[in-house]
Amino acid sequence: MRYAVLGDIHSNWEALEAVLAEAARAEVQRYLCVGDIVGYGADPTACLKQVRGLPLTVVAGNHDWACVGKVDADWFNRYARSAVEWTRERLSFTDLAFLRSLRAKHEEKPLTLVHGTLRCPEKFDYLFDVAQALETALISKTPLCFVGHTHYPFVAEVDPRVPAVRRLLNAPEEVQHVTLDLEGAKYVINPGSVGQPRDGDPRASFAVLDTEGRWVDILRVPYDIATAQRKIREAGLPPMLADRLAVGQ
Ligand code: ZN
Repeated sequence: MRYAVLGDIHSNWEALEAVLAEAARAEVQRYLCVGDIVGYGADPTACLKQVRGLPLTVVAGNHDWACVGKVDADWFNRYARSAVEWTRERLSFTDLAFLRSLRAKHEEKPLTLVHGTLRCPEKFDYLFDVAQALETALISKTPLCFVGHTHYPFVAEVDPRVPAVRRLLNAPEEVQHVTLDLEGAKYVINPGSVGQPRDGDPRASFAVLDTEGRWVDILRVPYDIATAQRKIREAGLPPMLADRLAVGQ
């Protein structure tokens, strides 16, 4: 099976469209999403409609749940909080019911999806270091675990017998076509962010996983950043949310 793994779409229609076109070119059969379909960008309803129309499995992100009151947005910074409030007012009953129905974790062989970490999926902790990657890999019942939330793409390969992180791949050239050892190792993989990359590369990020071929590829896709920025400014969302898209931070 060949999957496209998306995360942190954040209501960025132009980025989502570009990523889906690239996924179609890669001939993926199914779609997975590690959460945060909405928040920050100006196109929450269009992104939700598109996501619901795909053969896609998605878990909840903190922004998705904040829009339906399942996460307290008072903990968000002011930009994120005002985006949640702006988004909530624009969603249909169907959109809200869909976001409310999302679970914090999904498991199916050979993979698990979670937005933050597996230690406590409903807390949305940031997986930022080797110790947390190791912990999540060891908790995972499947050889592959996809995470999101930090908007930083990486592949961590764990040897569960030691246990230790054997390889941490996060440079752009390292995360292309990574061969997977699905018998001997476990993996924690962040596909990066579709709609608001924060690793200094403004291009949209997502992963293609091939479970027969046993490889994963993190791809970067150029998209129409200027249009996404214009819509954010015209919507009256904080201008900083538009500015950061140009620098990928
Ligand atoms: Zn996010």
